[in-house]
Amino acid sequence: MAGDTASRRAAMVERQLRRRGIDDPRVLEAMRAVPREAYVGADMAGLAYEDTALPIAEEQTISQPYVVALMLQAAKPAPQDRLLEIGTGSGYAAAVAARLVARVVTVERYAALAETARRRLAAQGVDTVAVHTADGTRGWPDEAPYDAIIVTAGGRRVPDALKAQLAAGGRLVIPVGDGGGQRLLLFERQPDGSLTERDLGGVRFVPLVGAG
Ligand code: SAH
Repeated sequence: MAGDTASRRAAMVERQLRRRGIDDPRVLEAMRAVPREAYVGADMAGLAYEDTALPIAEEQTISQPYVVALMLQAAKPAPQDRLLEIGTGSGYAAAVAARLVARVVTVERYAALAETARRRLAAQGVDTVAVHTADGTRGWPDEAPYDAIIVTAGGRRVPDALKAQLAAGGRLVIPVGDGGGQRLLLFERQPDGSLTERDLGGVRFVPLVGAG
């Protein structure tokens, strides 16, 4: 029931997000609005508002709601922004991002996941997200540069292509490190072209698998 899931989402926003320090009102509103159950299989729908990542196809996961909110808040999304996501997975984070910025480009290495995400986004009436099947460590040059880039899988290093596709003033949020100890890093492109780096804490994402 729509009313029921809306109240479960409101509780999720209070307990899992606000209480842990997510305070960007637009991010909280977007998390309150997007039905997470629409981006997982029917067998997982009952768990959609649990405080956890959940399995999707191809041994991948839909991120924990808190992690989605944390990454999007760190990316400082503005209404006119163009955002690139690497690792479409379920399409959920892209759907939340679509409520925050004008345009979302998302890249997924598994064609089957990209296709399912495309279908689920369309079913929800989300029409500002382009889903591509490709190696996202190369970014998506066709629509670069991006005001914000979020990478929802973790590798040993930050792909050069992603840094190169970051606009002036742009923010790149990416987990870096191998299996055991990833750190969520925020890079910001300064007016002089240099990049600053900040550590947002320890995280655990599925591997970023690619050439870049
Ligand atoms: N943002 C997703 C989280 C998905 S998990 C969500 O909201 O559901 C991370 C995804 O990154 C997986 O689907 C995995 O297949 C994908 N991935 C890993 N390496 C990649 C690469 N080099 N290019 C594109 N996608 C990649």
